[in-house]
Amino acid sequence: MTDVSVRFAPSPTGRLHVGNARGALLNWLFARKSGGSFLLRLDDTDTARSTDEFAKGIEADLRWLGLDWDRFAKQSDRFALYAEATEKLKASGRLYPAYETPEELDLRRKIQLSQKKPPVYDRAALKLSDAERAKFEAEGRKPHWRFKLNRGTTAWDDIIHGRVEIDMASLSDPVLVRSDGYPLYTLSSVVDDGDLKISHVIRGEDHVTNTAAQIQLFEALGYMVPVFGHFSLLLDADGGGLSKRLGSLSLADLREQGIEPMTLNSLLARLGSADPVEAQTDLNALIAGFDLSRFSRAAARLDPHDLDLINAKLLHATDFAAVRDRLPAGATEAFWLAIRGNIGRVAEAADWWPVATGEIDAVHEDPVVVAAAVEVLPPEPWDATTWKVLTQAISAKTGAKGKALFHPLRLALTGRDKGPEMAQLLPLIGRDRAVKRLTGK
Ligand code: GLU
Repeated sequence: MTDVSVRFAPSPTGRLHVGNARGALLNWLFARKSGGSFLLRLDDTDTARSTDEFAKGIEADLRWLGLDWDRFAKQSDRFALYAEATEKLKASGRLYPAYETPEELDLRRKIQLSQKKPPVYDRAALKLSDAERAKFEAEGRKPHWRFKLNRGTTAWDDIIHGRVEIDMASLSDPVLVRSDGYPLYTLSSVVDDGDLKISHVIRGEDHVTNTAAQIQLFEALGYMVPVFGHFSLLLDADGGGLSKRLGSLSLADLREQGIEPMTLNSLLARLGSADPVEAQTDLNALIAGFDLSRFSRAAARLDPHDLDLINAKLLHATDFAAVRDRLPAGATEAFWLAIRGNIGRVAEAADWWPVATGEIDAVHEDPVVVAAAVEVLPPEPWDATTWKVLTQAISAKTGAKGKALFHPLRLALTGRDKGPEMAQLLPLIGRDRAVKRLTGK
């Protein structure tokens, strides 16, 4: 059995968004579940668009999610390997120079389409004579380099799709090297996956056709062909392509909006699989139930409302230690335990802090109940049982029951008509503040 080794390979041309995060998480879970290793590879061969700042941002986004990596590689450090592979392919006759300009290729594609033919590269460059090639070179044209695909069928057993068979006649020979000598994704990705001994390539299904060409390239370069798993794409709740709002929603935006990393992890680890989504506060809890083969080929629907629901559930189960730094200064564990079931975002704790410890505008809806409360208010110390003692005493005195009893008391003591359990809030408010709120003095 091969050691499991997977990778997440973003291009540092922007920050991570929800879709990228899913790819990162599924690979990470796969590695952790199997005791394998997880490689972070920055696909930064496009030096014009890749920046160090985005690279740092991606690392920060992954750390925020809680995803650590065992290995790290940067394609810009590895150009020599791609050059070596290029020479190898040229020597074996699998890489051929082509001189068409983008405009010429575009025109040819349009003609093919108008003739109802698939827009597949016609391999005209393979038919060039030495004299024709020399003429292009003399004109100053620099060739780009295409990988000559073997015809027939390329097939693999995909973890999610099952058996996939691609008729290679439907694919253009991929360009591996640009006319300025830069290696393109197909080449650099296969060289790295091969050289770094990636055992499983887990990525979005938009790469399915790339996979067929890449399998041939792995073979041509003498590398072991990895196992592939292509997860479905994310769709909006209404089944449309992931909207701009969501699809381009960066992790940085979500964090800004108060979405917890484990909210996102909890959802993305199960979305599109046969397993239910549960709000988990710990990544380890997601590893145990993770099984890539339970993911469906059908598109996964992401409803932003689910993020809100999971976030609230998650906070409800979150320990004080995990949020203490983000609570108002002085906030205690008792305060957190009292309010965590009533907030959707950690930042909302700040709304409850004055209710527990500061000034509020008390509302006196029923003066009789409020006056009775002042009279029977027990002496401190107060604890979670005080509320019951108090309300029973007021009820005995006034005959008020149920909502007629609880509602005016909550309004007077908190200034709000709903919120956390009064039994937990009352000891936080304390007797002095309670008297003040009940008497208005
Ligand atoms: N950098 C490529 C991308 O972001 C990696 C694709 C792959 O996983 O092979 O699309």
